[in-house]
Amino acid sequence: MQLHFIGTGSIFTNRMSASALIDDKILIDTPNGSVKAMRRSGIDPGIVDVCLITHFHADHFFDIIFLLMEQGLTRKRDGELVLAGPTGLAGRIEQLFELSYPGVWATVKPNVSPRFVEFGEKGGQWSGHGYRVRALPVQHTTPIALGYAITDGAGVTLGYTGDTVMCPSVETLAGAGKALVIDTSFRTSKAGHMGLDDVEALADRHSALTLVPTHLGDDVTGSDRANIVFPADGQTFTVDDRGARPAERSAATG
Ligand SMILES: [Zn+2]
Ligand SMILES: [Zn+2]
Repeated sequence: MQLHFIGTGSIFTNRMSASALIDDKILIDTPNGSVKAMRRSGIDPGIVDVCLITHFHADHFFDIIFLLMEQGLTRKRDGELVLAGPTGLAGRIEQLFELSYPGVWATVKPNVSPRFVEFGEKGGQWSGHGYRVRALPVQHTTPIALGYAITDGAGVTLGYTGDTVMCPSVETLAGAGKALVIDTSFRTSKAGHMGLDDVEALADRHSALTLVPTHLGDDVTGSDRANIVFPADGQTFTVDDRGARPAERSAATG
């Protein structure tokens, strides 16, 4: 499994806001600036077949408008675009278009053939395009916030927490595979986010797990734990049954 970080930062940093692309197919979150960042990395936003939204905060969601316009304003998708996220996703997208580009959704919608998958406060599951996706409820400052466990056809599972404090679903995600992308906004937990101390405690409890911190604040710069690997914006990792490690991004992208 290939894990490409489009962004790795929290709001008030120079890093792009946190989002990731799996196997040039599954996009997790569409934060401010993420679609431009994809283009800058040489990635055509049209390749995304599945978009998973963790929650509706702007630094995770607002570029959904640009992803949809990329895919459906001047071109037409071949097949459906799966849009998965918290309950209310379809309505939120309609509202965003109404606020920003009134009338445009009516043009874009038939061209992207959206298939909405909405998860409530208990989470849920979805399978398609060769992947199994499990949505788990995490604890943040929105009514519904989701973490995801994504399993490919070879059985490799990647966890992604989204914004959260330490909670049972984070433990579940830590046990689901050998790699977990994890909210590490602060040195210690605050404002609905994990602290590096939480992440290091998790790393100590799960020694065979690679933890990849994201949504990084400026004061979170490193860790002495061998199984915590910090990513950079635009960096690609390889994920397999041994964990996650930086990889050279293949030239096949596009
Ligand atoms: Zn948030
Ligand atoms: Zn956030």
